[in-house]
Amino acid sequence: MCPLSPESRRRPSLPPMSHMAMPCPLGQWPLKTDVFGRRQEEGVGDGLPAVYRYYAAPGKRVVGNPADDIPAFLGTQLSLGGLADMLKHLWLAGAERPATPLHLHVALGRQIAIVDRMDLHLLWYNKGRLFVKSVPRFLLDPTFCSSNLQCPDGCACDDPPTDTWCRGIERKVALGFLYTYVCLISSETDFHIANETRLLPRNQDDSPIKWTDWKAFARELVEMHDRNPDMVHPRFLRAELRLSRIDAIHRLTRLPPFRPYIRGWRSYSTLFRDNLAWMATAAVFLALVLTAMQVGLATQRLQNNITFQQASYGFTVFAILGPICAFGLVVLGALFNLVIDLPAAVFGRRRNRAARGTWGQVSQPTP
Ligand SMILES: [Zn+2]
Repeated sequence: MCPLSPESRRRPSLPPMSHMAMPCPLGQWPLKTDVFGRRQEEGVGDGLPAVYRYYAAPGKRVVGNPADDIPAFLGTQLSLGGLADMLKHLWLAGAERPATPLHLHVALGRQIAIVDRMDLHLLWYNKGRLFVKSVPRFLLDPTFCSSNLQCPDGCACDDPPTDTWCRGIERKVALGFLYTYVCLISSETDFHIANETRLLPRNQDDSPIKWTDWKAFARELVEMHDRNPDMVHPRFLRAELRLSRIDAIHRLTRLPPFRPYIRGWRSYSTLFRDNLAWMATAAVFLALVLTAMQVGLATQRLQNNITFQQASYGFTVFAILGPICAFGLVVLGALFNLVIDLPAAVFGRRRNRAARGTWGQVSQPTP
């Protein structure tokens, strides 16, 4: 834990070294504030969700009880997914700055979409949708975090960890995630929006947590971040990330290529409709330029201009081949996704049939 002397809380002048807060050992959970305002003797309760989903094998998603294996559950909940491999490319998707307050997102017309995946937290669509992961109750429980997100004494917290007991990456992700919330909820207005959209957990009696408790928690976290910014995962140095650019990075840096990070379409008709929309816009632009060139060629001044003739020739060829190639790429992309989806669809159907068969046998009354 990190004991803080009253002098160390006074800002902006720094206290003398002898009165400064003791630096937190890197392997420990640094936060002590309990936003639920519970006394120590009340206990922490079960802040875990009812169930969670994880992959038991590639392509095999199962539902499990988080209390059965808490480290595995935390590994799933605090996983950055594909973003962890893109860290050095994230500068393309967002600037290095703290998260924008919630009220400003609302003022910009962004719709808040609640998600459960950590790797989708603060990704935003061009269409005005912002993915936000709600705060899990267990992450605001200092007792739970101290028990499950601390490393054993002497852990080197390597990256990637060599010690199987190391919780360094999960702890950094958790602190980075909470730090984004401190930035998202800066004022009482943001706090009201967060409670209204159920981004924050509530007390046992379904009442919202108190603003004063949240303020104490936020200030403790900011002080921790000021003392040691390395306790936060580097993913969260850039808060909001543009999803279209994450898709582009994913397409160009991962195998197989041309796969977006998240599919924005759920059926092939949607895929063609979305792509035909921008192709129609491009076709209108091409038609305007070709018409202007045709008018230009009718004038005496441009009829004998070699450069204009060459430019007209090149653009005409491009106007013929461009739409054909673009439509061909869309068809190829659809075929590519179809080939990838087919095995999952076939085997998934067989698995479901087998599961239904097993369920039928189990549900049959015993003679
Ligand atoms: Zn460690």
